Amino acid sequence: MSKTRVFQLAKELGLQSQALVQALGLLGIEGVTPASPVDEETANAVRELLAEQLAKAQEIAQAEVTAEVPAESETVAPGPEEATLEVAEGEVAAEEVRPEAPESLVPEPTEAEEKEAEPERVLPRRPSYFDQDMLRLERQLDLLAGEIQPSAETGPRASLRELIQRPKGARPKQAVEVPPVVTVLGHVDHGKTTLLDSIRHTQVTASEDGGITQHIGASEVEYKGKRIVFLDTPGHEAFTQLRARGAQVTDIAVLIVAANDGVMPQTLEALNHAKAAGVPIIVAINKVDLPDANPDRVRQQLADHGLIPEAWGGNTVMVEISALQGTGIEDLLDMILVVAEMEELWADPTAAFTGVVVEALVDSSRGPVVTVLTRSGTLRVGDVLLCGTGYGRVRRINDWRGRAIDEVGPGRAVEIIGLNEVPEAGAIVERIDSIRDARRIAEQRRQAEQQEEREHLARQRVADVYAELTSQSRKVLRAIIKADVWGSAEALVDAIHRLAGTTDELDVDILHMGVGDVSESDVSLAVASDASIIAFRVGVPTAIRQIADDEGVTIQEYQVIYEALEAIQRELEGMLEPIYHEDRIGRAEVLQVFSVRGFQSVAGCRITEGRLQRGAILVVRRGREEVFRGTIDSLRHFDRAVQQIEAPNECGVGSNAWNDWRPGDILEAWVRTETRPTLKTQEANHSARS
Ligand code: GDP
Repeated sequence: MSKTRVFQLAKELGLQSQALVQALGLLGIEGVTPASPVDEETANAVRELLAEQLAKAQEIAQAEVTAEVPAESETVAPGPEEATLEVAEGEVAAEEVRPEAPESLVPEPTEAEEKEAEPERVLPRRPSYFDQDMLRLERQLDLLAGEIQPSAETGPRASLRELIQRPKGARPKQAVEVPPVVTVLGHVDHGKTTLLDSIRHTQVTASEDGGITQHIGASEVEYKGKRIVFLDTPGHEAFTQLRARGAQVTDIAVLIVAANDGVMPQTLEALNHAKAAGVPIIVAINKVDLPDANPDRVRQQLADHGLIPEAWGGNTVMVEISALQGTGIEDLLDMILVVAEMEELWADPTAAFTGVVVEALVDSSRGPVVTVLTRSGTLRVGDVLLCGTGYGRVRRINDWRGRAIDEVGPGRAVEIIGLNEVPEAGAIVERIDSIRDARRIAEQRRQAEQQEEREHLARQRVADVYAELTSQSRKVLRAIIKADVWGSAEALVDAIHRLAGTTDELDVDILHMGVGDVSESDVSLAVASDASIIAFRVGVPTAIRQIADDEGVTIQEYQVIYEALEAIQRELEGMLEPIYHEDRIGRAEVLQVFSVRGFQSVAGCRITEGRLQRGAILVVRRGREEVFRGTIDSLRHFDRAVQQIEAPNECGVGSNAWNDWRPGDILEAWVRTETRPTLKTQEANHSARS
């Protein structure tokens, strides 16, 4: 399972990655890049912090839209209703083909001047693309606002959430002691699986009734007359996922650290997840059988992160074990029992029945099979269950080894068969009196869920519209990155963000990064989001390439990192606005005015400086005033049409849109040249400005 990364979180929050990096800095989290992973706790802190600010920003954006748009819209020929996207597109086209008037040569006319000027001399001011777009966006917001209704009550009732938590307060007479639920967390390969196997092995050999028949996602161990429930979460993501769904079921976290490797990044992540959950942590220092094992170093490293071993006067229990050889396992189990005893865990078997789903699958012969940790009350075969949008009558209850039982009280790991659909991990199961009620509630929830989905989509689109509003002038490179290993994917994402970060003009949206061949889902994501796919040292199956070709998705393949980076840099540079330079190439003075074919007049001039050129931008000045801007459309030397002509020659100059030449007018010829900026020049400009 992949971790949330800064850029993904930024996307979720509708922020630029760099802005989020800065925000993290404010939270005291330094040195992160857009590709850095963020743990769920930090992500949540950021979400909360920004939710409020985002709401404020949106209010302001909305206020600005409503305040500005009506005034501007008066200049739009069609009424607001007709000002459709087509109009906006037409406008873009018009802007693109507009004659290259040297706007920067002379100040824009003031409003008063504009009124006085003759109508044909002044191009009517039209609302820009930006104005049109504002109108379009505002209308979209209105439409979307209509789609968002206050959502109906969904999910299990709040009181149920309380029931699955450990009860607090006075312990009723009928209460029974329940076993702790233990989750083993730690860096990959540090021995989580081996430890669980080893613990079960201890149990199995100690018991008389044979081996473990199946894997259901949880197991129970009986040790010294007490039970312990172990959860086989594949990693701390799953652990946190359960928590995120409000199903915090773990009572004790065992943090496993290999004594030869020491504390690794995922060890710290796991530690933070356990801390965030507020559960007691027991450290198992594993692989102490290895010659390069160094348990003291592990203790020191953990102490540096706030887990002080009891032996050093702190309060973290640390046990040295070898999961492989089975040494220290009993010490660990002893410590789990000690910690559990302090927690005083109990449940009420007469309360309403509730449980939490920890694993679920569809079995071809048995239908949905759901592993449940029972939390309160008692469940019997034949009872009716409700779980999310699924329901059904319990056909069978198996204990964790697959043996059928008739009823189950709290604190057990069991398999339940009888639900009509597969719930998600973390879902809450409850007992309902009648199957009719269960069906009705399930149906209501399904409808509420669909409504929620519609609203979510609408909200998403509102967020998109706002994002568009705030990033009007920025261009976005959308990409999907597939690489052979995470390291190179991260390096690429980092480099792309760094490149784009050198300019204010560009933004990068990495929709997905992953390891492995380019897949059909990558292509469909690219189609849906108008993105390209960057494949670094991974294959593109022929069938996928075909789909990409058909869909018009670009897949850029690279084998060498610097080639990939150079190509990406070129692509980003291609997205930058060209830089225009305007240079005056010549001047001339009007000596005489001729009429050609009775209606078109031509200025007979003497070139006083530089050269005149056909197609060049023409500025006509009369005294201190500029009277015309346009292009040199015809240029003649005596009777001959010429492309260009230099000082000190005489020539005839014509411009299609100008007839009112007067002797003494000064003509200027300008040309506009375009250069492609590089990210380096951008960076230089950027740092010069800031
Ligand atoms: P997980 O990824 O955390 O579940 O780690 P595994 O349980 O799969 O263990 C990873 C590797 O470490 C396997 O090859 C295990 O055999 C080995 N291993 C686990 N515990 C020990 C131990 O106590 N001593 C030694 N020498 N190897 C161990």
